[in-house]
Amino acid sequence: MFQATKEFAEILDQKDSLANYRNEFYLQPNTIYLDGNSLGLLSRRAEQSLLDLLASWKTLAIDGWMQGEHPWYYFAEKLGALSGPLVGAKEDEVIVTGSTTTNLHQLIATFYQPNGNKTKILADELNFPSDIYAIQSQLKLKGFDPETHLIQVKSRDGRTINEEDIINEMTEEVALIILPTVLYRSGQLLDIGRLTKAAHDRGILIGFDGCHSVGAIPHQFHDWDVDFAYWCNYKYLNSGPGGVGSLFVHEKHLGKMPGLTGWFGSDKEKQFDMKHEFSPSQTAGAYQIGTPHILSMAPLAGSLELFNEVTIERVREKSLKSTAYLMDLINEELSEFEFTIGNPLDDVSRGGHVCLEHEDAARICKALKLKGIVPDFRAPNVIRLAPIAFYTSYVDIWNSVQILKKIMVEKQYEQFQNEREIIA
Ligand SMILES: *Cc1c(COP(=O)(O)O)cnc(C)c1O
Repeated sequence: MFQATKEFAEILDQKDSLANYRNEFYLQPNTIYLDGNSLGLLSRRAEQSLLDLLASWKTLAIDGWMQGEHPWYYFAEKLGALSGPLVGAKEDEVIVTGSTTTNLHQLIATFYQPNGNKTKILADELNFPSDIYAIQSQLKLKGFDPETHLIQVKSRDGRTINEEDIINEMTEEVALIILPTVLYRSGQLLDIGRLTKAAHDRGILIGFDGCHSVGAIPHQFHDWDVDFAYWCNYKYLNSGPGGVGSLFVHEKHLGKMPGLTGWFGSDKEKQFDMKHEFSPSQTAGAYQIGTPHILSMAPLAGSLELFNEVTIERVREKSLKSTAYLMDLINEELSEFEFTIGNPLDDVSRGGHVCLEHEDAARICKALKLKGIVPDFRAPNVIRLAPIAFYTSYVDIWNSVQILKKIMVEKQYEQFQNEREIIA
């Protein structure tokens, strides 16, 4: 379906209806950035919304809470509503608050209600470590031993998790399930609707970590009846380093008392009554704890404007085409160098990045960086390559594979140690 020539890449770019959005982003000269799944690039609109919020502090001071283009008091709710179309949520179901990990703590503290024999939490053995740490500590807080009460579904191939295996572990003893939407290493996309239904059929609540899918893949969290979800906004959503995270709580659970309460979770009309009886908001805003981190959520306003202009469906369409093209070029150009493509190949279960495995992965990444290609490395042997719909062109992908081929032919990676850097 694709051809390996540069002319073909140029034609793909000419036909690409998102091609112009590249100019909305700050791209560095002589660099091809394939790491937008770890930290998305700055867009001009995100920069502008950050500057706008900074100016509101400068000029309005305390009145910035209720005045200006983005009154701070309602900003987290407003950004939550703007995130709705990305994840298939109603306006009141999403709030921008906390970080991925603190949001997971909040959601487990709320939705993990061990009862009788139903005391275990089900996760998988390939999930991101921080999620597992949060689950372990929440189990301990309720007096359970994570050794016996955290069940981690095993992977058959070390890369992916079989959905049948997950469903088989949904026993009567499981109270709560936490799974990633997309696995951070292999990029496997799970069937969220199917797993949610299977969990609910067995009377189990289920929540998803959307860090590696939100901003790359459309979701229907409300219609799939997902109990809750949480994600960061600094990866595919380009909200900047340490940008505030998000959480979704299904409408049917709104009005419930959050596990961890604080005054910013109050009903907004009552918050300043300053009563010692907590009146939770009837929206996902109830899950906020303290004062919102206005400046760290400001870039998201500009960034979401771009997503809502383009729609997440078009982002996914280009992303799938880009990863398919990248895999095709890898198969065509690199077949003699013992690479393995570790991500699912089909469109239905492939996330936003290509997982390229090689025993020299750590030092191949260093050689790529030296040549201006920015991938990322995940131990022990994964090079993650994420073409981003907004700013990676097909010519960028073509050039990246050519440079990688030259690195392999000339064994340029041999000048580096095959070890990860401190951040990898
Ligand atoms: C990036 C990522 C995190 C990061 O958590 P923070 O609290 O934002 O540092 C957690 N889980 C997954 C699956 C991730 O990909």
